[in-house]
Amino acid sequence: MSTPPPSHPAYPPTPGPYQQTPVPGPYQQTPVPGPYQQAPALGPYQQAPGPGACQICGAAPAAPVTVRGHQGMLVIMRFLKREGVFCRTCALASFRDMQADTMVLGWWGPLSVLITPFTLLTNLSALSGIRRIPEPVAPGFRPPLDPGKPVFKRPAGILALIPVGLLGLAVLAFTVLLAIGLVAGGSDSADHPTLTVGSCARNDAAWPEQDLEPESCDSSDAELRVTAPADGSCPAGAYLAYLKYSEDGSTSLCLRPLKS
Ligand SMILES: [Zn+2]
Repeated sequence: MSTPPPSHPAYPPTPGPYQQTPVPGPYQQTPVPGPYQQAPALGPYQQAPGPGACQICGAAPAAPVTVRGHQGMLVIMRFLKREGVFCRTCALASFRDMQADTMVLGWWGPLSVLITPFTLLTNLSALSGIRRIPEPVAPGFRPPLDPGKPVFKRPAGILALIPVGLLGLAVLAFTVLLAIGLVAGGSDSADHPTLTVGSCARNDAAWPEQDLEPESCDSSDAELRVTAPADGSCPAGAYLAYLKYSEDGSTSLCLRPLKS
């Protein structure tokens, strides 16, 4: 019962020494302002809120990064976006998460099938920007995000090879069909000869079909003489040749049967 009274006077002295010595003196002089204020060497990154530090972990340098995601859900779909000033490590982690999720969840809708590849490609171009951010040199207030495994070493990336492969096949098939169509179209246009006024021709098809071939007017196979229409029409008994047989493809030519 005699001890409590003396204990009270004993405590007040203790705050004294702590407030005097350590806090204001050494801390305000050296560490905090010094090194962090030199960081403005990161000038270009400073547009962002904060002095060029990662929004997630505080590390520097950091740069503005946008990665996107897509989810298709049959009728509805979701467009996701993660945007901010990130250090390289946090940006890479964000990219890989978004990319892997989109690869699994992106395909499940009629429009999403088309949107997802674009989303993935957009992220790839964002990735090239992320790779240009230098490795963090100034540590942040907390550890950066764990980037984890590269996308194609995750189950999501392996699963995504199926729709990506199917899409690739579809694009390939479309390209091949287009190429065949062009070749066929090309050979079709190269298939027919051009006829000039005054020359002769024969028709290998049955009228009114035309499969005209040039023929020497001296030949017994020549059936038709090519003439220019007078007053825009062909004389009685003459046929009008398909326009494709003219030199420019748009001139009318008449075919007058040769009497033999
Ligand atoms: Zn970070």
